[in-house]
Amino acid sequence: MDEPRRTKGEGMATQIEGRVLRRGEYRYEMHRREACWHAGVPNRYPEVIVLANNEDDVVAAVRLAREERRQIAVRSGGHSWSGSHLRDGTVLIDLSSLRHVTLDRETMTGTAQPGIKGSELNTMLAKAGLFFPTGHCTGVSIGGYLLQGGFAWAGRDYGPACMSVTGIDVVTAAGERIHADETQHADLFWAARGAGPGFFAVVTGFSVKLYPRRPVTMNSGYFWPASAAPDVYRFVHEIGRQTPTEINLMCHRDPLTEGEPLIALNATAFTDAEEEAREQLSIYESCPARARVLGTRLNVVTDTTILSRVGTDPHYDETKRYLADNMWTHASFDDLWPNFEEMLGTWPPAPSHMVVFNWGGYAGEPERPSMAYSVEDELYYGLYAAWADRADDPRYTRWVTDHMRAWEPYASGMQLADENLVNRPYRFVTDENLRRLDDIRARWDPDEVFVSWLGRPEP
Ligand SMILES: Cc1cc2nc3c(=O)[nH]c(=O)nc-3n(C[C@H](O)[C@H](O)[C@H](O)COP(=O)(O)OP(=O)(O)OC[C@H]3O[C@@H](n4cnc5c(N)ncnc54)[C@H](O)[C@@H]3O)c2cc1C
Repeated sequence: MDEPRRTKGEGMATQIEGRVLRRGEYRYEMHRREACWHAGVPNRYPEVIVLANNEDDVVAAVRLAREERRQIAVRSGGHSWSGSHLRDGTVLIDLSSLRHVTLDRETMTGTAQPGIKGSELNTMLAKAGLFFPTGHCTGVSIGGYLLQGGFAWAGRDYGPACMSVTGIDVVTAAGERIHADETQHADLFWAARGAGPGFFAVVTGFSVKLYPRRPVTMNSGYFWPASAAPDVYRFVHEIGRQTPTEINLMCHRDPLTEGEPLIALNATAFTDAEEEAREQLSIYESCPARARVLGTRLNVVTDTTILSRVGTDPHYDETKRYLADNMWTHASFDDLWPNFEEMLGTWPPAPSHMVVFNWGGYAGEPERPSMAYSVEDELYYGLYAAWADRADDPRYTRWVTDHMRAWEPYASGMQLADENLVNRPYRFVTDENLRRLDDIRARWDPDEVFVSWLGRPEP
């Protein structure tokens, strides 16, 4: 059963060294489920799953799909909340075994295959004193992460991580292997930096820029009861743009508040010296809710691996069913408060949570190149419900979707990282870039071999 084999149709084009699992076959369902990181695996069934061993397998899988007139979906790590890679009747090309990385310290460049996890890459780079803007949580592969933008540790200093991608190796809808960058196939490269789950080729490798690692990572944490929320959030809305520190403001049920929602503010400074980091973090002492704090952990020298493990990972439990949604905003907190106040009274069970990050409008942010990724704002609100019982799917789907919809008048768009396009299609790139993506897709994938976003905003 585990032997490499030829698929139906035979011929060199369809020879695949990795595994080919057809729907109904032994282990098909195991691999379909494993392709989604959480327990809420969508009821969508690829016809064939190809577990690619190498780039030739990807070419063969694309040709197989064309021979069988099936659409293609792609999985790198399977951390899409919505399982956008699980699509009915498709050939699912699974790239989770493509994990090779090369680093060149002299040129400060590297290459990475899409199945490598950002956290693994981060650890490798740390050993070499290097840095790449990888995501906040352990276990997210770079394939989907880089295509949709990439919201990273120290991301405000480097921009969305896709800005640090300098080229891609792809297998096109025609089954050809090509390299795309600013100088060759530049339109495909433009699309790859932001199209996310709407990208219309298979990326088998990324060429990236690397950076020297800042010597100091320092974090301060403050924990409040939900009654302090208006003061804390208003403060974050006010200082978010100015402070060079990265804010992670989390609301979740916690034992510290006897199971009631807790507000946890974690701020991180990335600097050259500890004194500079302490100075940057001192701003949080002026929060109007300071006197009501339940606990603090101040000026701790740390690193992003520890911050992921301690600060974020406990909120991601793969045995739970998840739904995510989000918005970019620069609204005043007072406009957002009525909806938030209502949410606090109906908060789903742990580890459901909401995060707010400060992002745009910061003086140190780098200039954006022309790329598909084009919707950002001062603050990012990400909402994540987690629950155990399938019977609760409708309830928590409504909770997340309706509360994000209530904030639409104050939102400037959403991020594909945490998309909920099935339930709430919303603006994820500018209208102009969406049209351009459609044009580029028509050129590279005229037969619509690749599946696209699970939903898209009305024109
Ligand atoms: C626990 C958790 C934490 C997260 N933290 C962050 C974070 O800190 N920052 C952030 O920006 N995002 C974060 N995300 C969102 C995450 O980056 C996206 O879901 C991303 O798509 C996951 O990458 P993946 O390789 O697992 O994608 P997959 O789930 O494998 O694929 C998602 C979609 O991307 C496309 N795709 C993936 N790989 C390829 C490829 N090689 N070629 C062509 N198309 C491809 C496909 O269309 C596919 O449908 C997080 C998600 C989770 C679940």
